[in-house]
Amino acid sequence: MKAIRVDASRAYDVCIERGILQKAGTLMRAVKGNTRFMVVTDSNVSPLYLDALVDTLGDNTASFVFPAGEQSKTLSTFGNILEHMAGVAFTRADTVVALGGGVVGDMAGFAAACYLRGVDFIQIPTTFLSAIDSSVGGKTGVDLSAGKNLAGAFLQPSLVLIDPDTFQTLPTPVFNEGTAEALKYGVLYDPALFTQLAGGDFNENIESIVQRCVELKAAVVHEDEFDRGERRMLNLGHTFGHAVEARSGFSLYHGEGVGIGMLMAARVSERLGIAVPGVAQSIREALLQNHLPTRCAYDARALCSAACVDKKRMGDTLTLILIEHIGKCVPYPIPISDLLSIMKVAAEDA
Ligand code: NAD
Ligand code: MG
Repeated sequence: MKAIRVDASRAYDVCIERGILQKAGTLMRAVKGNTRFMVVTDSNVSPLYLDALVDTLGDNTASFVFPAGEQSKTLSTFGNILEHMAGVAFTRADTVVALGGGVVGDMAGFAAACYLRGVDFIQIPTTFLSAIDSSVGGKTGVDLSAGKNLAGAFLQPSLVLIDPDTFQTLPTPVFNEGTAEALKYGVLYDPALFTQLAGGDFNENIESIVQRCVELKAAVVHEDEFDRGERRMLNLGHTFGHAVEARSGFSLYHGEGVGIGMLMAARVSERLGIAVPGVAQSIREALLQNHLPTRCAYDARALCSAACVDKKRMGDTLTLILIEHIGKCVPYPIPISDLLSIMKVAAEDA
């Protein structure tokens, strides 16, 4: 078993091992002692893994299952989780467990942050993306009708357990979203990780890849837990990617948008002379090798208006993350008035 210590306002371990779900109870009791658990999960994950987890936790474990999907990430579902906690007389000594992808983790975490003004929670991410991204770092929340993740709180979990065997039941495009976010860590910080992922077909090394991504995320969270500096680098590919996702009417997966967004950032970086030539081509090949889309089928003007509603915008400035070379990126603030010309370069179909 690999254990990575996340040194945030609350320090905790991220434990990674194939099959770790079978011994979850023992590991959770070692951290939380004699607490009562409530497992929050969704309708896809529940038939696959809920019983196996509850078997290791004991008879007085409560559970709450909601319909799978981003469309459930609402104040209404959040309210239902809280009501359920109150209904089973959950106390401050008890512990919420998020079993599922990022939707489950974000909402269960936010419920834990709010119930009785805060109870502990444990993350058991079951998607590649949630294992390397959302389960570590303590951002929790729900969507509002005006946009994604607009209400939430910072609450670090007390433990994260990652069982990469659970990724085997993921639909391929959902697994590939994790690959796009993993490539992002490579482009930001780690050329060797990028090269390993760029070859595709890395399932044999999934444990060590998850471990490396979590180490990188943990280092960023340690430096900037509350998202005022270095953590913003993790938005690489997200400003362009969100715009593409939004223009597709969200028919593109988020990870697919991030992949295309990184390629767009690379094109802009090359054109501005920030990147060494060839970066865009390396990213393009890595995406293709991992069955991720590379084409941006939308015109610059439409993308520009989608990007202007980005919540990362501050007044009349938008900070893009651009690429110097694989393993090194830089924040690059631009006036909103420059966005259209930048978007034209980004959306060129090279
Ligand atoms: P998700 O939770 O919707 O999971 C994707 C799909 O896979 C769902 O249909 C789910 O039911 C299914 N699923 C999950 N595990 C499975 C398994 N092992 N086998 C089969 N099916 C399984 O979404 P996600 O991609 O994991 O995460 C996206 C969410 O995470 C978004 O809401 C995003 O805002 C959030 N997020 C949060 C952070 C953060 O820092 N808190 C970071 C990134 C993303
Ligand atoms: Mg993302």
